[in-house]
Amino acid sequence: MRWAARHVSSSFVCWMDGARNGDIAIMRVGSTRLRKRGIMVEHLTIGPELIDIRRHLHAYPELGFHEEHTSQFIADQLRGHGIVVLANPLPSKTGVIGLIEGERPGPAIALRADIDALPVAERSELEYASHNEGVMHACGHDLHMTSLLAAAFWLAEHRERISGRIMLLFQPAEELGEGALAVIKAGIVDGLDAIIGTHNNPDYLPGQIAVGTEPMMAGCVKFAVRLHAQGTHAGYPHMGTGPIEALASMILSVQSIVSRNATPFHPLVVSVTEIHGGDVWNVVPAEAGFLGTARYFYKDDGQMVERCFRRIVAATAEAYGITADVEWDDFADPLVCDTALAAAVAQDVPQYASLEPIHPSMAGEDFCEYAQRTRLLFAFIGSNGAPGHYGLHSPHFVGLDGELQPAAEFYVNAALRVLKECAAGQ
Ligand SMILES: [Zn+2]
Ligand SMILES: [Zn+2]
Repeated sequence: MRWAARHVSSSFVCWMDGARNGDIAIMRVGSTRLRKRGIMVEHLTIGPELIDIRRHLHAYPELGFHEEHTSQFIADQLRGHGIVVLANPLPSKTGVIGLIEGERPGPAIALRADIDALPVAERSELEYASHNEGVMHACGHDLHMTSLLAAAFWLAEHRERISGRIMLLFQPAEELGEGALAVIKAGIVDGLDAIIGTHNNPDYLPGQIAVGTEPMMAGCVKFAVRLHAQGTHAGYPHMGTGPIEALASMILSVQSIVSRNATPFHPLVVSVTEIHGGDVWNVVPAEAGFLGTARYFYKDDGQMVERCFRRIVAATAEAYGITADVEWDDFADPLVCDTALAAAVAQDVPQYASLEPIHPSMAGEDFCEYAQRTRLLFAFIGSNGAPGHYGLHSPHFVGLDGELQPAAEFYVNAALRVLKECAAGQ
């Protein structure tokens, strides 16, 4: 079955071959298919088996690259549903790679869920709260794993709907910022036409999905500045040089980078978060330094911040007669979806969830690394939205079971749509 898409005055209209554009909506009760104005999406049910899976995964969280029990559990679930589990080439041996071959040839894509937890002591008071002391799924990765398993079970039973191959990538160590890079280094995503990921988002209600072409998550920089002076007796400052006044001046001056150089229409942050220097009250130290982070959504802004930051540090150091080194580690790019894939997938979403605007997050996400190898598609899936809810990484965070169905339906419908979009472009 081929699908075609046509861009009509800023909205997409799609239709199945043989179906006329403008067909009356038909919903077959008890069927998994909905045909509405020629757009067909799949609907999934989250039964007690999947709720139990979610609760088990939540109760036994594991830290990045130590997800042994989690990986075994996922692999067993996949095999139990007749899904092939590939050998794992990662050094940690954690993470799981499943594969579903469609009945017809076509492109190769991956559906990715991250599987690690955080070193947080759970205070959620859920009946299925963490049994692993000091470790918690405070970022809701238990929801990601469960919704991808739900999607995988459905896809494995509907191979006739698939033209191509779908990899199920249960990725370790997202919270360490190292899992995606390990997957790339191991060659797991080589040759893929696209990769699809989700993150639950407690700022949206269950049933709401945000996907689109705008930047979703911030690019992240870690900076470190070290100041080198002569040091001297505190009572004889004229006998040497010191770093303290220069450090204070630099910290205040870098706050002018955003306010005086960036367009007010782009979110941009420079935060100084650590200061080091001096350990004796009557000695002017020779060394001092500070660290912090910059967050940006547009590459040009990130480059502008680096240029201004280096200029302020160098000029201030010179003004105080000392020297300074800047370490600028631009370790994560902004997360932005492939434009064509995001537009195509977003136009299907209203058939199974409420399509919402993207509220970008200042947090980072290592999913952006896959842009080195393939086209990206990412979505925020509502997981709470109640007044006063706790955010991701909070010991009180609660992600609701209601996230699972929209997330699983997103994985399935986005996979089928992306396979068709990629095939059309080949
Ligand atoms: Zn997180
Ligand atoms: Zn997360």
